[in-house]
Amino acid sequence: MDPETIHDVEGVGVHYVHRHDVIVVGAGLAGMRAAVEASAEFDVAVISKVFPTRSHSGAAQGGIAASLANEEEDHWEWHMFDTVKGSDYLGDQDAIEILVKEAPVVVREFEHMGSPFSRTPEGRIAQRKFGGHTKDFGRGGPVLRACYAVDRTGHALLHTLYEHCMKNGVRFYPEFYATELIIRDGVCRGIVAWDVINGGVHVFHAKAVMFGTGGYGKVFKITSNALANTGDGLSLVLRAGLPLEDMEFVQFHPTGLYLQGILVSEAARGEGGYLINDTGERFMERYAPDKLELAPRDLVSRSIQTEINEGRGIGGEAYVHLDLTHLGAEKIMRQLPQIHELAWKFLHVDCTKEPIPIQPTAHYSMGGIPTDKDARVLLDGKETPVTGFFAGGECACVSVHGGNRLGTNSLLEASLFGRRAGKSMVRFLRETREFPELPADAARVSIAEIDRVLSADGDQRVSDLREELQERMTRDCGIFRNAEKLEAMMADLVSLEKRFARIRIDDRSRRFNYDLLEAIELGHMLEFSELIVAGALKRQESRGAHSRVDFPKRDDEKWLKHTLAWKTGGEVRFDYKPVVITRFQPKERTY
Ligand SMILES: Cc1cc2nc3c(=O)[nH]c(=O)nc-3n(C[C@H](O)[C@H](O)[C@H](O)COP(=O)(O)OP(=O)(O)OC[C@H]3O[C@@H](n4cnc5c(N)ncnc54)[C@H](O)[C@@H]3O)c2cc1C
Repeated sequence: MDPETIHDVEGVGVHYVHRHDVIVVGAGLAGMRAAVEASAEFDVAVISKVFPTRSHSGAAQGGIAASLANEEEDHWEWHMFDTVKGSDYLGDQDAIEILVKEAPVVVREFEHMGSPFSRTPEGRIAQRKFGGHTKDFGRGGPVLRACYAVDRTGHALLHTLYEHCMKNGVRFYPEFYATELIIRDGVCRGIVAWDVINGGVHVFHAKAVMFGTGGYGKVFKITSNALANTGDGLSLVLRAGLPLEDMEFVQFHPTGLYLQGILVSEAARGEGGYLINDTGERFMERYAPDKLELAPRDLVSRSIQTEINEGRGIGGEAYVHLDLTHLGAEKIMRQLPQIHELAWKFLHVDCTKEPIPIQPTAHYSMGGIPTDKDARVLLDGKETPVTGFFAGGECACVSVHGGNRLGTNSLLEASLFGRRAGKSMVRFLRETREFPELPADAARVSIAEIDRVLSADGDQRVSDLREELQERMTRDCGIFRNAEKLEAMMADLVSLEKRFARIRIDDRSRRFNYDLLEAIELGHMLEFSELIVAGALKRQESRGAHSRVDFPKRDDEKWLKHTLAWKTGGEVRFDYKPVVITRFQPKERTY
């Protein structure tokens, strides 16, 4: 441990108290982009529960959106229209305007940092098609807008940022697990973390804290998400008494490998892949006659699930086929090598010769920690920021994706709002010379939680509870929802929480104890799942990825608003705030 950062602070109950101007929790694109920015001027540390370059951003395959117009005509206004329409008009248009206008700057910065993008024959950054991205305000066909590094875009960008963090002297605490957010009197004062490798509770005292803790796909059984995506940041924010926004909007990606959930990037359809049902029909012709497989994800996922539910899955099973064979082996191996490898390794399917069995998979959380356009975390629906607390990327809700995210807008959001968070923190730190006071009980709750789990001796196994949660969330709070299923899910959550109080773990050691971490993660997942389900029950309409079969229409009169939800004393409390509409008035969404 670097003694420079360790300070003695009376009464906080732990030996290690580190001090940095900025603590970033999360080493994905959002966290590291913020760290690169803020470290140009201040002392920045990044904490991550997995080694930084193993962060989930590294799994992103398809691309990052920007209207560079390198391959054909494109404009930020077209990108804005597509994003607003894709969001089913729930996205805040002031934030979306920033997203699409600054996108080319963010991508070119990556290029200048050395990211190895795929190139056109002339040497420009190459661009490909992705669902919902169109020409001429939706009147034209799909547009070449996604910048990519074959099908390993996230990997390329993540490593670029890591190198730049190293260059700027960012201090990394790899395999440190944040267990608590210290907020008192509306001022953020740091975080508490568990040292995964050596054991021990550490307090990180900071003037500014930024969360880039990623999404929560792991609450579902079939998911494209990594093991680490348990949404910890969201429940830490809830426990600190702050709200979460639009949690009912969960994106299901149309093409997960059958039974595995592992993603087959939309790039596969962007390059020309077809979806085929049991009768050999290219069924998207019925659901989205104009955009076919390149309609947005909510629509394609519902279409696939309808085919499966109505018995037209392959051989009556719960999957359809994604056919790439007509693209030819040369194109597949050049543009989609990872897809080929995944299909082969996990299903033993050679996609140059046979179609890939796929089913929709839980993929992305549109909702999260409410922030303003400068990535400042908000306390309420009135734009009141928490002093010294920032968030960006998938854990945050600014909200640029509204009810449904377009592919490639997420790497963009994470990088762009990570960058804005970094700039915001620099402005904040220039005016904030002193460290806020560290409360004497800063680590009390974390110490008690860890001791409780380590000595837990009940009759319930964490893995059983997690599996039940994932299965039921997929069944009752999945692509198609109704009141009856959601009410059953609420009751299940109450019973799972009661059983969680009676867990037992086998490993009681303090070093590298994944039994301990998995128990803590399950506590987080149970905590915020209630907001997903309760929010979905409340929202009596269908919008974007939230599809209520008992309320099949979008209801702008009652529901053109964002959900804010708090959890206090076990009770969920709701409030709502208006959607920001500037250029594009809501209208019916057809593709
Ligand atoms: C398979 C797949 C492919 C995708 N492809 C694309 C694509 O092509 N284009 C696109 O735009 N989007 C894509 N997405 C979405 C996109 O990758 C993510 O939304 C984005 O990378 C999230 O970045 P992030 O920085 O917010 O979080 P992440 O990259 O998920 O990073 C989260 C970080 O938080 C840390 N963390 C979490 N909890 C704790 C804790 N308690 N203590 C300490 N650290 C913690 C983790 O260690 C990690 O470092 C894809 C997603 C998936 C699942």
